Amino acid sequence: MNKLHLAQLPTPIEKIGYLSNKYKPNIFVKRDDLTDSVASGNKIRKLEYSVAEALSLGCDTLITNGGFQSNHCRSTAAVAAKLGLKCILILRKEPGENIETANFLLDHMLGADIRVKEHDDFQAHKDEMMQEVYQEVLDKGGKPYIIPMGASNGIGTLGYIDAFDEILEYEKKTGIVFDTIIDAVGSGGTYTGLYLGNELRQAHKDIVGINVCDDADFFIKEINSIIDDTLSHLDVKDVERSHIHIIDGYVGRGYSLSRKEELEAISDLSRHSGIILDPVYTGKAYYGLIHELEKGTFDHAKNILFMHTGGIYGLFSKSKEIISA
Ligand SMILES: *Cc1c(COP(=O)(O)O)cnc(C)c1O
Repeated sequence: MNKLHLAQLPTPIEKIGYLSNKYKPNIFVKRDDLTDSVASGNKIRKLEYSVAEALSLGCDTLITNGGFQSNHCRSTAAVAAKLGLKCILILRKEPGENIETANFLLDHMLGADIRVKEHDDFQAHKDEMMQEVYQEVLDKGGKPYIIPMGASNGIGTLGYIDAFDEILEYEKKTGIVFDTIIDAVGSGGTYTGLYLGNELRQAHKDIVGINVCDDADFFIKEINSIIDDTLSHLDVKDVERSHIHIIDGYVGRGYSLSRKEELEAISDLSRHSGIILDPVYTGKAYYGLIHELEKGTFDHAKNILFMHTGGIYGLFSKSKEIISA
């Protein structure tokens, strides 16, 4: 498959002394928050494949969608600006949400053509809206390319098979072997890439996803369908599906809504490690991780690798909540 080189790779892996002293396993963090500055996070690894396909098809306009504070949309807008492509974003605005800051501010500065839709309208008509914009670009003589939400299709997911290989390279170089890899699951592509890497390379790790929206059943179906789509781009018939491991129970108040204790956990880690997690994905997964560590779920593990998938800008839309947490 075609691939662009957009991200700063390999991203570092750091052992977190604070957590490794406190809990039984050693806990490491893979710093995929450092893949870039403005395009940072996990989405840029997916976009290396998605946008390569767009360019190989001669497309000049990227169309995608997400929440008002979508990291994926911000990364897409940044990559488009860098490559001289147009970018149209359809953003879902929650009732009462009117915070023109953080990712939304960056989308604006990066020159994205932003279409804001109210939550209910977006949920009911997202696919038609994407098709309408697609047609609009065609009518104006442009060449549109649609990237699905989170770039969590087969093409985008290839980026996280590469990330898995990057982890294996690190193991080979250092002799440190991770038995468990943990990531936040929002649309499922990152998890699926790591899962497929593990199956294809027969690495026998426990790939654990902590969902930040919906539930485990929803994501097991979703991940199976992303596996099908990803395998269609690879010369592989099938992989074992029974190792999919999703820990449910940490959605809290709902997607992108924070609880005081989640925000406290994020600030606690910041103070003790200098690592800043985001409130929507990694903060919830981290809150889940420490609770599972306290319950003894990972007592058998020696080395846990937690994926920091980025999202730092999202914090700026929650500054009041964080300061009062
Ligand atoms: C999108 C996102 C995730 C979730 O990744 P998916 O591949 O959508 O499951 C995790 N962390 C951050 C910061 C994200 O922006």
